[in-house]
Amino acid sequence: MSLSTGPIFMSGAGHVPHGPGMTTKIIYFMVNGKLEKAEFGCDCSAADVKDLFRAAAEVEPHHVLKMYNWRGSVVNISPRLEANTPDSCYRLEAVASDLHSVPMPPELDSMEHRLNHLETKVIEDVGKTPDAIFELKSQVESFKRKLESVKHLSWMGLFKGDGNQHLPKTPLKARTPQLSVQEEHQRVRMKFLNMSSLQVTGEVRELLKTPIFDNWQWEEAEMLVLLQVMYTDLDFLTAFHIELEVLQNFLFQVYCHYNNIPFHNFQHCFCVTQMMYGLIWLTDLRNKLGRVELLIMLTSALCHDLDHPGYNNVYQINAQTDLALRYNDISPLENHHCAVAFGILSKPECNILKNLSSEQYKHIRGGMIKCILATDMARHNEILNRFKVLQPVFDFTNREHKEVLMKIMVKVSDISNEARPMEVAEPWLDCLLQEFFNQSDSEKLKGLPVTPFMDRDKVSKPSSQTNFIRFVLLPLFTELTKLFPCLEQHILEPVRRALDYYSDMERASKEVKEEEEEEEEAKPPTGGR
Ligand code: 5GP
Ligand code: MN
Repeated sequence: MSLSTGPIFMSGAGHVPHGPGMTTKIIYFMVNGKLEKAEFGCDCSAADVKDLFRAAAEVEPHHVLKMYNWRGSVVNISPRLEANTPDSCYRLEAVASDLHSVPMPPELDSMEHRLNHLETKVIEDVGKTPDAIFELKSQVESFKRKLESVKHLSWMGLFKGDGNQHLPKTPLKARTPQLSVQEEHQRVRMKFLNMSSLQVTGEVRELLKTPIFDNWQWEEAEMLVLLQVMYTDLDFLTAFHIELEVLQNFLFQVYCHYNNIPFHNFQHCFCVTQMMYGLIWLTDLRNKLGRVELLIMLTSALCHDLDHPGYNNVYQINAQTDLALRYNDISPLENHHCAVAFGILSKPECNILKNLSSEQYKHIRGGMIKCILATDMARHNEILNRFKVLQPVFDFTNREHKEVLMKIMVKVSDISNEARPMEVAEPWLDCLLQEFFNQSDSEKLKGLPVTPFMDRDKVSKPSSQTNFIRFVLLPLFTELTKLFPCLEQHILEPVRRALDYYSDMERASKEVKEEEEEEEEAKPPTGGR
């Protein structure tokens, strides 16, 4: 899958115009699943050509690039690379990276640097490293090793323990070390604006309307283009007089306001919005609800976790954070997500609602507030029970009925990872547990009550999922499926398969545990007589 042929990578072309007679070479190659085209003058240096392909692969200087020809042989990346056609394209891979160059947090690096400097000075004066400095250096070194070896700190991007088996799927942005967060955002913005939604193929547009869409294949700039496609293909630009530039500014600001944390990040925002988009098409809601209601639902999904800090409401309340204080312990996070959304919309250049009447604006604002606040899982039963009562007599023209349905649709999208194919869903569970464990570790460190379902000592992947699917997902999805029977195959069946998968996993791990306990009991007692 790709956004069709990507941008053209050119070396030197921007700086050194190739004069007449100077030959340029065109190389077609596949990288990260996309067909790309590189163009460079034969006078280019080998280093320039390597840099060009490094940029195309979007890797950092310490990655090793390997180019394969159509026969599968490795070829040298140099100006002498043979020109080719799209049919005989090369394949470019970033095959290895020197993990030692993953940067440490700046504070630690600067402490180490200052210690080395101090050591040099002291050696000049005293002739040897004093014990105190030696000890400090060992402590810094051991702390660095700990950062690299403690699994639950892996979200910091420093973990080297398990061969980085989830590396291709981790949603944590592999930020270029030299770039600040702002620079990284600008890089994504430029890439987003340089792509055209016209590059999104019909095949991708169709996949985007289904729960089998694989978010892991797309980088952030591409997800922004896909979000733009969702707004365009639902005719929102025409219906609400949204200028493309304003939509792009809005989407970019939404992207900037998600944090780089294990689960509640921009990728989660994308998945929830994409599921909402899919549900709208699958249930033919375009012919059942007004365009305004669809805009409320899609935009609520997009904004529903803005600026999530990675710690849930219970933590906010127990730790008496600024958010809990500001919102008096009442859904502090959801209130914050919504307030951030309207903060973004308050800037005219981002305000996709600016060409609407004040009545329409008020209606949309009210709808979004209701939908986003409904994502607080503490209100799950309240909202589901309301829907259960209305479902048998559901009336698409009744205002209250529509409001409850919209909340249910946002809630379903929010917790719909298990409705996706297993290979898409399972990495999301790893991310969620990482965030859960970070929270329970903090709770333990701060002496706060430890949230049991987040405790790494009590929770496992299968136990977490079997309970969540049985008691939360199946009851919710079943109720929505009663109103839209076609959803059975699209969301209920995959969730039932996931329950079987995690039940088997739970059984297997219980058996292993029992065997281990039996072996332990069978061992002859050691030590005493
Ligand atoms: P969110 O915080 O994303 O708005 O609300 C959804 C909440 O539901 C998550 O924070 C998380 O607690 C829970 N949740 C969502 N998906 C799953 C899942 O697949 N497994 C489990 N155990 N909990 C989930
Ligand atoms: Mn969410």
